[in-house]
Amino acid sequence: MDRRTLLTLLFAVLVGSTNLAGCLGNDLGDIIPERKGIPGGLTLACLTSSSYTSMVVEVDYEPGYKPLASSTDLLVERLTSVCDKPEGISIEFQEVNFGQQGDWSAEDVRSKAWDQKTASPLEGSTLRWQLIFPAGGYEEASVLGVAVDASTVALFGDSIDEAEGPLGRPSVEDVENSVVIHEVGHLLGLVNLVYQSPVDHEDADHPGHSNNDDSVMYWAVESTDIVNFIFGTLPNDFDTDDRNDLAGLADGSIPIRDQLWSRV
Ligand SMILES: [Zn+2]
Repeated sequence: MDRRTLLTLLFAVLVGSTNLAGCLGNDLGDIIPERKGIPGGLTLACLTSSSYTSMVVEVDYEPGYKPLASSTDLLVERLTSVCDKPEGISIEFQEVNFGQQGDWSAEDVRSKAWDQKTASPLEGSTLRWQLIFPAGGYEEASVLGVAVDASTVALFGDSIDEAEGPLGRPSVEDVENSVVIHEVGHLLGLVNLVYQSPVDHEDADHPGHSNNDDSVMYWAVESTDIVNFIFGTLPNDFDTDDRNDLAGLADGSIPIRDQLWSRV
């Protein structure tokens, strides 16, 4: 190594440490902000397998708030039915303490969920989505679940418990199953979050939601309006219009926007 190369290297090391000095103690996210995106921002990464061949759903729950096995089993089943993941879709459970004081806002959900993520949403060939099940409720008490960015959903167990209908219809289990699929449906971009459906099935009064009460994306499914279903069956699956939208996004026949990952 000649003297000039050595000096260049030394200079690089010095500049490197100077730059880092001011950043130590900060969250890594302050140095290289990771794009969190909007719900639906990782739809294409789920629907196709050209970059992401497997998927992990991280479930972070506070003690006493672990979701029912039927909810996470159903989630894997539903995701498998629409997303192309040849190496499989699995759930990773983690018991955590979010340390939240008072009601949750969307920003609380975003920041505390990201603090717990064990890996980036796009890590190697694995797509990672995250469901958090915190203690406490949302600032808008009627809300049972929220999708806050491209990879993050929160479900409020206390509110879900309270949404059980008279005589247990719908049951807590029915409600939880449906709200889990509904919120993940938003991460899949439903309805019209990152595209425009060729079919008119978005509810005019409830943007981002279906007007079909047989779809899990029906507007009443994520709120205490769910009590409307006491005389019917709570939907926990996507309807034909939802599925046709996803198929059109996957094959490119429906244009998609706001993606954190796009096929080249
Ligand atoms: Zn919704």
